[in-house]
Amino acid sequence: MKYNNKQLTIENINFKNLAQKYGTPAYCYSYSKLKENINNFKQNFKSFSPLICFSVKSNTNLNIIKEIKKFGLGADVVSKGELMLALKAGVSPSKIVFSGVGKTNEEINFAIEKKILLINAESKSEIQEINKIAKQKRKIVQVGIRLNPNTDAKTLKQISTGKSENKFGVNSKTFYELVNYCKNSKNISLQCLSVHIGSQILDHKPYEKMLKAVSNIINKTNHKFKFVDLGGGMGISYSNKIKKLNYKKYNLAIKNFLKKHDTKIIFEPGRSIIGNTGTLISKIIYIKDGGAKKFIILDAAMNDLMRPALYGAVHKILPVDKSNSVSRNAYEFVGPICESTDKFVTLKKFQKLKEKDLVAICDVGAYGMSLSSNYNLRPKAVELLIKGRKIKIIKNRQKHTDLI
Ligand SMILES: *Cc1c(COP(=O)(O)O)cnc(C)c1O
Repeated sequence: MKYNNKQLTIENINFKNLAQKYGTPAYCYSYSKLKENINNFKQNFKSFSPLICFSVKSNTNLNIIKEIKKFGLGADVVSKGELMLALKAGVSPSKIVFSGVGKTNEEINFAIEKKILLINAESKSEIQEINKIAKQKRKIVQVGIRLNPNTDAKTLKQISTGKSENKFGVNSKTFYELVNYCKNSKNISLQCLSVHIGSQILDHKPYEKMLKAVSNIINKTNHKFKFVDLGGGMGISYSNKIKKLNYKKYNLAIKNFLKKHDTKIIFEPGRSIIGNTGTLISKIIYIKDGGAKKFIILDAAMNDLMRPALYGAVHKILPVDKSNSVSRNAYEFVGPICESTDKFVTLKKFQKLKEKDLVAICDVGAYGMSLSSNYNLRPKAVELLIKGRKIKIIKNRQKHTDLI
């Protein structure tokens, strides 16, 4: 994304033209950014060529998954719906891992039938359920066990998953117990230890701690794990101020881990692959005086992008038409939904805006559209993929008649 003659562009296409042609709000994804992210991710860890399973929950657009699959990535899914989507996109079952604390009998049955690489189990009850189903089907099922390493990811508490108070994974004591359970089962083949300590992680130290915990556990179990699945969680820069994750140090920590453990590494990145590829274009409906501040009422709302309302996340907002004017008031960017949390950000300084102006809400490729809803009976936005000079509608805007 850059300004050309004061007009914000994505891959040299004006957002203004996109808005005119496809309406607003509109999700626009940059293919070249996606490609760059995937290549960078591979490059960062190339010495041990990990299996990279894209975390489908971060973006559930079929076309996006298809594009990602073409780079050889697999999929990390957390429901039967996501598993079906990954298969439909053509992802090989041998590159699909299934995570989540509450897989139902139906979901486990489906995963076994599709012969996916791993079901990463998160409790004793789940392992028992998998064993029961595998026995009925007379199959041997490849599983992983998700460890809760009790490591603070130093991220937002709402998106932290690796502490003992979080519902995810099992503690070390249960882990040993489950390793033994699997060893005694004829229908379970324990292949993997998995961890995922949280999301939007910008400090490599929690990852180092996590690796240490994993290393200790493996040493104590005396079991040969074919895979160690380190999850995802790599953070991105939502503002110019925040620091970047040091991939060199994370890579080094893994290389040291691999000196002691002969295993294949799996990653499950979501945000770091797709987050900064997406932009949400929105039009200002009204501007309303609110005393010291002005409310910029957008046609995008929390149903389109829930992260600010859900986690207090802050997304950068840019004007589509740049000017040198400066507003005298603070601007509060809000949506039309009847909730006070339907608010994107308050900015003390911004260029002067007027009604019908367009703005771009940045870095919405991950947990943007996938978290969207029809709250207030609002149709979901259109999704566009910008690939070179081509603009492809990868999801039509919902119509009111779809909803009513
Ligand atoms: C959500 C999730 C991921 C992806 O996290 P990102 O922060 O988007 O990289 C990976 N693994 C599991 C188990 C998850 O729940």
